[in-house]
Amino acid sequence: MGNWELVISYAPAIFAIVAAWAFMAFGSEGNDGQFHEASEEVSLSELKLEVENLRTGLLRLQHLLASLPIPFVGMDRDGVIYEWNKSAEEAFGKSLFDVFEQPAKEIVFASDNEQKFEAALSALHEKDQIESFEVQTFGVGGREFTFEWHLMSLRNASGEISSVVATALDVTERVAERERLNDLANRDALTAIANRRSVLETLDRAHEKASPMEPISIVLFDVDKFKVFNDTFGHPAGDALLRRAGEVLRETCGKKHTPGRYGGEEFVIVLEDTSIDEALEFAEKLRVHFAARTLDLNGGVTASFGVATVDDPEHLSVAELIQSADRALYAAKHQGRNRVVLAASLDDVAA
Ligand code: GH3
Ligand code: MG
Ligand code: MG
Repeated sequence: MGNWELVISYAPAIFAIVAAWAFMAFGSEGNDGQFHEASEEVSLSELKLEVENLRTGLLRLQHLLASLPIPFVGMDRDGVIYEWNKSAEEAFGKSLFDVFEQPAKEIVFASDNEQKFEAALSALHEKDQIESFEVQTFGVGGREFTFEWHLMSLRNASGEISSVVATALDVTERVAERERLNDLANRDALTAIANRRSVLETLDRAHEKASPMEPISIVLFDVDKFKVFNDTFGHPAGDALLRRAGEVLRETCGKKHTPGRYGGEEFVIVLEDTSIDEALEFAEKLRVHFAARTLDLNGGVTASFGVATVDDPEHLSVAELIQSADRALYAAKHQGRNRVVLAASLDDVAA
């Protein structure tokens, strides 16, 4: 059983325990009259036994929470820490002495995480359910962990929140696995850029937001005479060239533009908030860079580019945008390859 599976299997038990503890600690407070309503005649010895049982139960629960293999934090209604078990000490490298009566948001939830904690805390005040959220935390030795926090409120007999209890499950491995699967699903294995499905999703999202103030452009990029390259130097050399194309795209696109492998030796780049002139400039830079960066691979190859822009999703669908860039790419091939053609320029000719 993995670490997170182990701790997750504990979570319901913890909350059941805490709920029982809350009932014993607060639920019975001021309620004693009703507690014994059914049997008016309770002897002193029976009452003593009952109190003793409660005391023993409470001690056992406190012991259990203290020794749980999961960080457990008890706070007042405003998030000030008053309980901090051994696992919390180990996970966050702070003793109970360090954190006692300190605000949890400063002790365990730094910067961005502080907001998540505050939001969960105020949600607890509004609706009575377990609030959970994930946070990245630097643990002992500076290692980054992801903890899934579960916050629960405890209410007193008059229904007011008297305290908040929290557990932190270490989900670092689960998150890493999730990211690995995500990566497998979205990345092209050969070129290490987005695969067709993923880049088309990016394009869909960008297309919806296109406006005259923030137009989006696409560049279709197709390697010239790649079949000849493959036939002459072999498939592995062809693969090496495609990998290089992936590198060139990562180098040229940076964070602003999203490149993806559209299929075979064809790539598409989504340029958000980019005008036709900027897209043209970008494609030209890419053309020159690609030719230069492939010179060491059997003398190098060139590529041709088609560029199209949309500033109103109602006016041009995603399919029409791609078709338009594809026509421009076709024209670039037709005009002799190793060049960039704008879809708009074709429309001018047609008009
Ligand atoms: P053009 O200049 O008109 O684009 O000609 P081209 O030869 O580049 O285009 P064509 O569509 O005729 O050939 C594309 C070639 O790309 C054919 C196919 O074998 C090759 N190819 C597609 N995917 C891969 C791949 O993953 N690895 C390798 N090595 N070759 C591939
Ligand atoms: Mg080609
Ligand atoms: Mg092609």
